[in-house]
Amino acid sequence: MDTAIEQYDIAIVGAGAVGGTLACALAQAGFSVALIEKTAVSAEQQPAFDERHLGFSRSTKVALDGLGLWQAMSSQAVAVSRIHVSSKGRFGSVMMNAEDEGLESLGYVLPAREIGRVLHETIAQQGNIQVIAPARLLSAVTTRKTAIIELEHQGEQMEIHAGLLVGADGAESQVRELFHIGTSRWEYDQSAVIANLDTDSVESGLAYERFIDDGAIALLPRSEAGYAAVCSVANDVADRLMEMDDRSFAAYMRENLGSRLAAIAEVGKRFRFPLALVRSTEVVREHLVLVGNAAHYIHPVAAQGFNLSMRDVTALAEVLIKARARGHLPGELSVLQEYNNWRKQDERIMVVFTDGLIRLFDNPLLPVVFLRQKGLMALRHFPRVRNLFTRAVTGRLGKQAALMRGVQLSSNRQS
Ligand SMILES: Cc1cc2nc3c(=O)[nH]c(=O)nc-3n(C[C@H](O)[C@H](O)[C@H](O)COP(=O)(O)OP(=O)(O)OC[C@H]3O[C@@H](n4cnc5c(N)ncnc54)[C@H](O)[C@@H]3O)c2cc1C
Repeated sequence: MDTAIEQYDIAIVGAGAVGGTLACALAQAGFSVALIEKTAVSAEQQPAFDERHLGFSRSTKVALDGLGLWQAMSSQAVAVSRIHVSSKGRFGSVMMNAEDEGLESLGYVLPAREIGRVLHETIAQQGNIQVIAPARLLSAVTTRKTAIIELEHQGEQMEIHAGLLVGADGAESQVRELFHIGTSRWEYDQSAVIANLDTDSVESGLAYERFIDDGAIALLPRSEAGYAAVCSVANDVADRLMEMDDRSFAAYMRENLGSRLAAIAEVGKRFRFPLALVRSTEVVREHLVLVGNAAHYIHPVAAQGFNLSMRDVTALAEVLIKARARGHLPGELSVLQEYNNWRKQDERIMVVFTDGLIRLFDNPLLPVVFLRQKGLMALRHFPRVRNLFTRAVTGRLGKQAALMRGVQLSSNRQS
């Protein structure tokens, strides 16, 4: 039997938060998109939309709004107006405040599942996105003219031809592997253990980042009374946290967070994620680009992975739309290099920032302890240092895509 061949402007492999958002942006701009996902597409079934809560910046929210996604999510979102950063057993904590920065909020917190739900609903309504799921990727190559992807879908083989292939298939990207693109990889020997904590009360809009002897704990306020906790700890500590009963886990949290945490009424199911720094050695080739975790998987300590990826998504959409207006095709190398040149500095800063935080707070050597005390004190006492830190955390360093500044995408097809 002949293999069915389908033609699209852009094929995206991976319908997680990044691939899904990119598909919406490109489809709204008038590109035809094939969205290829290995699991069945629904927020309940896709591991990409699990129990984690994502903290994200105001500019990410503005971009989601520009794509028409935010309104449907907003009822589940909690605005973060303050972040308390501290180190257990040492003085020198600092409070980052939206008001001090002249902002309405520092960011927002949303369940990943809610992002998935809204993405799926929106994608289903987009006429020019074809979702192909569950699908098994058999091969992917590029020729001078196009990218060719072979798939197995519903027991049949099919071939997708697209001007641009986007690998948005996560940290263990198969697309990256099929093109023999290498990675630089650093294992932190840490895992993130996440759990929802129901507490007696939540101080409105207040998030915590607490560095402890075992690593770091982030507490993100949830819409219900409680917090989403992310404990980034050494693997042996993660083993213990996963094995503990709920009472012992609550006691561990209280011991490390002290009076910050109101009484814990209930501890939700715990989940574990191995932590590593994985960076793709190449991000663009002719007819090929890697985005999101496929390009860079960073430590969640500063809640920056999705933010960084949203800056990729909005920049890529903008570059492709502008290139089309100049008569260029999406897969042209010069167009993709323009995207890469734009994004590489921000990526480097975020890697150095998150990796540096881990090294700084994971080191018991006295000079390093001294340095981090100085760092916290500088944050506390010098508004300009605090402003720089806040701008990094809220994604306002460097050139921002129009969507992140509240400017809508142009949808005019000119080619
Ligand atoms: C514990 C934890 C907490 C975090 N907290 C935050 C936070 O607060 N703020 C923040 O900004 N970031 C946070 N992050 C990071 C954020 O979750 C990621 O950056 C983001 O989810 C990346 O999404 P992605 O779509 O690139 O990858 P993924 O979520 O991995 O999605 C990849 C998709 O591709 C699909 N796929 C994989 N292989 C194939 C294939 N061969 N063919 C087809 N489809 C395939 C998968 O099924 C999946 O749907 C956190 C991460 C962790 C681990």
